[in-house]
Amino acid sequence: MSPASLETAACQVKAWRSLWETTKREVYGASPRGVELAPVWNDEHVTSQAVSSPGQRPPLAQRSPEELAEFLREERAAYDALLAQGLKLDLTRGKPASAQLDLSDALLDLPTSPFDQAGVDTRNYGGLEGIAELRAMFAELLWVEPEQVVAGGSSSLVMMREVITDLWLKGAVDGERPWSQEEKVRFICPVPGYDRHFTLLDWFGIEMVTVPTNDDGPDPDAVAELAGKDPSIKGMWVVPTYANPGGSIVTQEVAERLASMSTAAPDFKILWDNAYAFHHLTEAEAKSADILSLASAADHPHRPIMFASTSKITYAGAGVAFLAGSVENIKWYIGHLGKGAIGPDKLNQLRHAQFFGSPQGVRDHMRKHRQIIAPKFERVLSVLREELGSLGFATWTEPTGGYFINLDVLDGTAARVIELAKGVGVALTQAGSSFPYGHDPRDRNIRLAPTFPEPSEVEAATRVVATCARLAAAEKLVG
Ligand code: PLP
Repeated sequence: MSPASLETAACQVKAWRSLWETTKREVYGASPRGVELAPVWNDEHVTSQAVSSPGQRPPLAQRSPEELAEFLREERAAYDALLAQGLKLDLTRGKPASAQLDLSDALLDLPTSPFDQAGVDTRNYGGLEGIAELRAMFAELLWVEPEQVVAGGSSSLVMMREVITDLWLKGAVDGERPWSQEEKVRFICPVPGYDRHFTLLDWFGIEMVTVPTNDDGPDPDAVAELAGKDPSIKGMWVVPTYANPGGSIVTQEVAERLASMSTAAPDFKILWDNAYAFHHLTEAEAKSADILSLASAADHPHRPIMFASTSKITYAGAGVAFLAGSVENIKWYIGHLGKGAIGPDKLNQLRHAQFFGSPQGVRDHMRKHRQIIAPKFERVLSVLREELGSLGFATWTEPTGGYFINLDVLDGTAARVIELAKGVGVALTQAGSSFPYGHDPRDRNIRLAPTFPEPSEVEAATRVVATCARLAAAEKLVG
């Protein structure tokens, strides 16, 4: 392309983009939950270099209406070709693949004896806080003291529900009354986030207020602003390491701000769900921020309650879940638990302790998971780069751990992309599921879960997602 025609194209694009931006704001207005609408286009991709570079498809923002109409025709044809393939693929399930579960099959022959290292007969009742050796092992992994850890049943989500139930019915150790006696209870939810956290709050009738998630965790200014003024705001969710679905990691600095900020509610709680603490995808193994020490140093020792589990380490559904907090919080939790339980499944805890052997055993085991799932993530990312990279309307995360990739397509098209994918046999997580009330104000967010399918299926499904994303974008832009 000559410099003159490049300039003309650039002017045309500028005028067209400005028209689009105006139309978009008229259509969407302000976001219903106060999230500011960012420009639709990822400007990094919108360069004249991209227009002139041969072999690369130019960004959609640089195309004339005629070129976009042609693009729509091409994408419809590509979609029709997918229809003919009769696919049946699934990218919804954030669960371990069978090969990952196989890694733990030595558990099936454990424990070798029912007695733990302290001589406790794990076949019998008792020991609500869990067996000592497993508490000590995970205390070291989670950077807390053994007396600050409970080893429980097989699900950390159940422990989260128990904690909120106890707060609701009995109140917190630092609270004035049960939360159920407050006129209103609200919670800060960093978005995008984990759908089951939101479902749980909704079930209690707790109102959810969103804040953005940055690369270093929940936006601490937005959190401090909300929590500092409003006593009905009683807490927040944080998935600190490799967040579901964005993969962000809370830095020590952000954790320090959350731990030390002043809150209008004296019993403000940080529910620190460290579900992916050890689930690294690269050799740079992130260490989770040390929230309990930070909160204690800031004189808010009872603010954080931490959760973790071996669901995605050993068996999902037959692992061991953990809760950690101040010693007072542990007593509070066990005290309420004891009203309806006589002891956890200590045999399962013992076989886990014997299987891992040591904290290093857990770390080594996680490297085996990494060998299985990291190539699947790489497949998704290379397909996204190849199929969407130069078009400038989609962005995605490149996580270094966890279970998900977060894909943002053109504003206003996520639900359509998911519908189109379903039409050709590819199941994707429901639109809006990473937002409270299932409402993604920009309708752009799609959670991709690459761990469960085989690598070839992951690749095929991602190609479908890319085609559907292009088709939905073309439909929207051509109108
Ligand atoms: N927390 C997060 C952030 C998750 O993504 C998941 C599962 O996907 C869970 C908790 C569930 O944990 P568990 O199996 O221990 O109940």
